[in-house]
Amino acid sequence: MAGHAGTFHQRLAEALNSSTLSLALDRALPTFRQRRALAFQGEDFPALQADLAARRAQHVAQIPDLLERFQQAAERAGAVVHRARDAAEACALVGDLVERYGVRLVVKSKSMVTEEVGLNAYLSARGVQVVETDLGEFIVQLAQEHPSHLLAPALHKTREEIARLFSALAGREIPPEIPQLVAFARDHLRRFFIEAGMGVSGANIAIAESGTLVILENEGNARLVTTLPPVHVALVGLEKLVPTIDDATAILKLLSRSATGQPISTYISFITGPSRSADIELSLTTGVHGPKAVHIIFVDNGRTAMRDDPEFRAALQCIRCGACANVCPAFQEVGGHIFGHIYTGPIGLVVTPFHHGLEHISDPQRLCLGCNTCDTVCPAGIPLASLILSLRERVVARKGLPLPKRLALDALAQPALFD
Ligand code: SF4
Repeated sequence: MAGHAGTFHQRLAEALNSSTLSLALDRALPTFRQRRALAFQGEDFPALQADLAARRAQHVAQIPDLLERFQQAAERAGAVVHRARDAAEACALVGDLVERYGVRLVVKSKSMVTEEVGLNAYLSARGVQVVETDLGEFIVQLAQEHPSHLLAPALHKTREEIARLFSALAGREIPPEIPQLVAFARDHLRRFFIEAGMGVSGANIAIAESGTLVILENEGNARLVTTLPPVHVALVGLEKLVPTIDDATAILKLLSRSATGQPISTYISFITGPSRSADIELSLTTGVHGPKAVHIIFVDNGRTAMRDDPEFRAALQCIRCGACANVCPAFQEVGGHIFGHIYTGPIGLVVTPFHHGLEHISDPQRLCLGCNTCDTVCPAGIPLASLILSLRERVVARKGLPLPKRLALDALAQPALFD
């Protein structure tokens, strides 16, 4: 799959020499920054940040208890809750469900956890067609790449590159005009929502008191993915658990502002169990207009290890807004395919060792300039810069220093050389 092929230095050179990448990043990232700044104008951001950081630290401390409470509440509402210790278990659980329900076509809304566990490749290898319906994910899937940004998967692509991809799919020329590109994607994807046997989503928040999933989006595709197919499967990282709807609201207040500069996202879905009705003789029936079955898979895949690490447990406070990448000077120059692994940007560097292994960030971490700008925008108060510095120490402890630095330090350790 493109985006991770070649050595780090080859990919870095390609990124630095790519005029289309710099054009795409220049078109998108300053806009993200301006919108975020406007969204917080007149707000006491440090106070909001301190409040959310304190809440999120509490949530992380309570994860095992919140999971129990979520499971009880969700199952009372008719959903089925599963737990996956790692990526292989998460994929196998979805594989079992696909088999049980005889599914041949899956539609998906944006979910970084499914990227993390490699779900698309797993299902495709079993002959199941997977169609990404988020516009950015659809583009990335067509290009056979990974997302380059937590929020905007196709941030690295210009509209001209996207027009070429869509034209090849359509068998006719689609002009590089954004309204035409969006219209093509809408027309192309519509039938898949109806024909799919399963919709797979992530979730931004999981509310323990009611067993509710909260999904934020602007396009409307997540609503279709989670309501039109007869089965909805949600893959959710353990860090998404919060105790109450009040805690969910605290996240909602900062998430869209930090992510896209909107006071609130266009669509916010609260999903508590399968669709139901008691309109006929007050007899409760499931699967009316929405799915008859809802399965929620909580994914650990390194999160418990992160929680057990006194320094890195703070990374679980992340609400995945992407703001840290938007302000990062290194990300601005090289984009997420270089500056990260599956998760990109500053938070990507921090969580990747726990999900995928330290070796995947041993080169990208060198791009961090230590400017601390990410810390100043993180709504969850995560000390990203110091965590990246700690990772650097762990990488050096594992691999040793790069040769030029080792030689320089060896020289400094021999004062006689300077006489
Ligand atoms: S680390 Fe902070 S700024 Fe970065 S994505 Fe997470 S919440 Fe947003």
